[in-house]
Amino acid sequence: MVAGHQYKNIVMKDLIKVLNWINGIECSSEEDMWIDKYNPDNGKLTIKVTNSSEIDVNNAVKAAENSFKEWSEFTPVKRGQILSKIVDLMKVSASELSENIALEAGKPPQDAAGEVGAAIMQGEFFAGEGMRLYGKSLTSGTPGKYSHTTRNPHGIVGLIVPANTPIANIAWKTFPALICGNTIVLKSSEDTPSVAIMFAELAKKAGLPDGVFNVIQGEGSISGEAIVNHPKISLISFTGSTNVGIRIAQNAGKRLARVSLELGGKNALIVCDDADLDEAVHWSSLSAFSNAGQRCAAGSKIFIFENIYDNFVKKFIMKAKSLKLGTRSDCDLGPVINQRQYQNIKKSIKTAIEDGGILLCGEDGSLSDIDNEGYYIKPTIISGLNHSAELSNTEIFGPVVSIYPIKNIQEALEYCNSSKYGLTSAIHTKNVDTAMWFAQRVRSGVVNINIGTYGSEPHMPFGGYGLSGNGTREPGSEALDVYSEIKNISFLTRENLI
Ligand code: NAD
Repeated sequence: MVAGHQYKNIVMKDLIKVLNWINGIECSSEEDMWIDKYNPDNGKLTIKVTNSSEIDVNNAVKAAENSFKEWSEFTPVKRGQILSKIVDLMKVSASELSENIALEAGKPPQDAAGEVGAAIMQGEFFAGEGMRLYGKSLTSGTPGKYSHTTRNPHGIVGLIVPANTPIANIAWKTFPALICGNTIVLKSSEDTPSVAIMFAELAKKAGLPDGVFNVIQGEGSISGEAIVNHPKISLISFTGSTNVGIRIAQNAGKRLARVSLELGGKNALIVCDDADLDEAVHWSSLSAFSNAGQRCAAGSKIFIFENIYDNFVKKFIMKAKSLKLGTRSDCDLGPVINQRQYQNIKKSIKTAIEDGGILLCGEDGSLSDIDNEGYYIKPTIISGLNHSAELSNTEIFGPVVSIYPIKNIQEALEYCNSSKYGLTSAIHTKNVDTAMWFAQRVRSGVVNINIGTYGSEPHMPFGGYGLSGNGTREPGSEALDVYSEIKNISFLTRENLI
């Protein structure tokens, strides 16, 4: 029974315990270490998360190794059928999954439900791949020789995920990894630990053999590093911050493990002077503030044509001030994930103001008593910053946006392309020539016209230039290139026998 999973292990005076999942069962860290997890909505300690060590990672790798033969020898069609069953069970348990995410991540219920819906679609897409998983048929220079490619599993893959959209992050990596025949050691986020266990229970119920999907809880610097450095893990797929991504690339590079990195962003939204202003305000607000700005694809910089600047800014401030903070269904954004992140965001706002930024609405950067209020940051808009200021160039991962007047589209493109990141961008204009001129030239892996900086769907490739990643694209069918090794098989027919 998945419903209320995390409540069945109530121990330690009403604190919930969240464990690992290894070889089809829950188990705590062999070293009995624990991480405190606080409720972002009220700052209260609610969960103890088992803090895994290298020993636990070794146990998970052993389970994944033992189950590899069976899983990889299932036909892709059979693997797809099991994925379909997981999806069916996710649909049945959608409200329990949403409730869990809303509670642990501090989200309004509609946001959590939307994320579960996206994870289900992700599963549907990759279950269908079981009946495709296409290779190529090739020609040859040798008469009678035939050649084709097949997709083969890497073996054991290490998946490391952040907390911002917990079930979507798990689905994004797990479904393509499974359909390609890999077995998995997934490092859950310490801030949203239990949804991975709920997913594991559903997968087991759907018929996924024990050991194929294992979950490790714990600190990145201990269990995350142990996964990255484990010699039997062939591929590391990581979603998280750029600094950690660089470290992972360096460590995994020492043994030439495959690496897929989905990292940070400083994404720009451009408002041209022919844009529908109300639509532009609506999408700017969603891009900057939804999910409390905790999106790699958040629109954290807005460039506005100077002849409509004042008009846009007036409407944008009104919109930001109208947003309701909280985790109820009538709220627009919840708190940020933890106290560390809350304090970092406040510090960044303070620095921006010291750098000459003008606070138009939201937080002034001072720290308040968060004990009873949770980790809430009001939607914050800052103008007047130089393009070289820290806030103009650094990802904040909170509901904070800086805005800049620009003369024309050429200037907007120049500022966009001077960023170290290159994940997503958006442009608002009624002119298709301007939109396409910009879309063709901007250095970002996703370009959206007349919508927000986020909104990629499960069948669309996602990833970015520069510090936003290492060039891979997940999900979409491009994810199959991440989760499989390509093999070229050729054979020579003996035509002289006929
Ligand atoms: P983070 O890098 O701190 O942590 C992400 C995960 O990595 C966690 O599970 C953490 O425990 C683990 N980790 C931390 N240190 C590690 C180490 N040394 N070795 C191995 N694993 C380690 O990121 P976060 O603050 O949780 O998430 C926010 C970041 O994620 C932002 O930068 C955001 O842009 C990025 N993100 C990117 C995408 C994308 O698709 N590009 C999507 C969502 C989030």
